Amino acid sequence: MKIVETPDSAYAHINGWRCEGFKVGLVPTMGALHAGHLSLVERSRSECDYTAVSIFVNPTQFGPHEDFSKYPRTLEDDLRQLSNLDVDLVFAPQNTSLYPDGFSCFVGTPKVAQPLEGIHRHDHFAGVTTIVLKLMNIMPANVAYFGMKDYQQLAVIRRMVEDLNVPIQVAGCPTVRESDGLAMSSRNRYLSPEGRQKALCLSKALNFAADAIASGQTAVSEIEASMQKLLVENGADSIDYARIVDPDWLTDISTITGPVVALIAAHVEKTRLIDNRVIELEN
Ligand code: AMP
Repeated sequence: MKIVETPDSAYAHINGWRCEGFKVGLVPTMGALHAGHLSLVERSRSECDYTAVSIFVNPTQFGPHEDFSKYPRTLEDDLRQLSNLDVDLVFAPQNTSLYPDGFSCFVGTPKVAQPLEGIHRHDHFAGVTTIVLKLMNIMPANVAYFGMKDYQQLAVIRRMVEDLNVPIQVAGCPTVRESDGLAMSSRNRYLSPEGRQKALCLSKALNFAADAIASGQTAVSEIEASMQKLLVENGADSIDYARIVDPDWLTDISTITGPVVALIAAHVEKTRLIDNRVIELEN
């Protein structure tokens, strides 16, 4: 497994493989790897000739009062896990090589970035589109793999790639969960043992929404109100949103007539957690 720090070196490796006609997969991450990240790597390994992973805690996607400085950095352990999976290349740059003095050019965001996370984390998605486009330029793979755990992020990236004609295919991968339903996240390690139990309120509320819809409830505002109540009763300290929206555009809907996505962002202890569930109507 090659480990490189500079954009030039990452580009040279991937461009070399592409020129030889190989299919290359890219898995962008912020490190602190868990089984969710590794599922993306495994998917890339199964579909591509070469798999490259980036590990970079991107400062521009964190707000001034968010957890950038305390975000877990576990590079040695991450490299060991990736090496075990036979990853071909890891790009782990320093901040200064991606954001040198004088950096000032940000990628815009599509409309789908506006609701939900866009309301609660101003500028977050501009940081995401900027780093993802930079990584796609530095690592010109055939396919880039992203998790549905970050549902809105995936929608934003799909739109950016389409709108800006970025020559890469975007693959969305299912959320990997702990056996009790908690979506895996690097931030779960912030939780105390009690917080870890409380964090199940997110998957419980999403399952509640799915059951309500399966049993024929169609009034979105009523289901959302019940989700909020369930979150608070089961351990959420505050809720940024608990919504049911259109699965493609993340726009509001009032009555359920087709597939939807339920999305939650809530604080448990001091940790902000997100989760979502796509809900199809059963026939
Ligand atoms: P992050 O390191 O949090 O930026 O995540 C890197 C990639 O892993 C993103 O595409 C995430 O959506 C994806 N990811 C994070 N957690 C999970 C999970 N539990 N299941 C599947 N993919 C995930």
